[in-house]
Amino acid sequence: MGLYGNFLLDSGVVHVSDAGGWDVIPTKEIQMDTSWMARGNCATHPPSTFFPSDGVGVEIARHVCDGCPVQSKCLEYALRNRIDHGVWGGCSERQRRRILKARRAEALAS
Ligand code: SF4
Repeated sequence: MGLYGNFLLDSGVVHVSDAGGWDVIPTKEIQMDTSWMARGNCATHPPSTFFPSDGVGVEIARHVCDGCPVQSKCLEYALRNRIDHGVWGGCSERQRRRILKARRAEALAS
């Protein structure tokens, strides 16, 4: 089985096809569907809930994200668009930085 998929780098997303070809989609050209946002658990909460100022607030937001039907889409949206602030997809800013770092390391190692 070949290695294929999308890998995030600072300059954009490297798309590797299962045929072995690859191309780079610059970050600024990434456009993602946002229709999922209306289906999120957060639709009934004030936006400020998801931009907490402390760890307790992060946990409150993450609790709302638990079981959200669009959690994975939300997280990927935040990762791909390099959203630095707030809780997205059940992950804090710090957690998203770790995910991006791990993805970069994985892409560079392959
Ligand atoms: S994962 Fe969290 S922030 Fe994202 S849509 Fe769901 S409830 Fe909202």
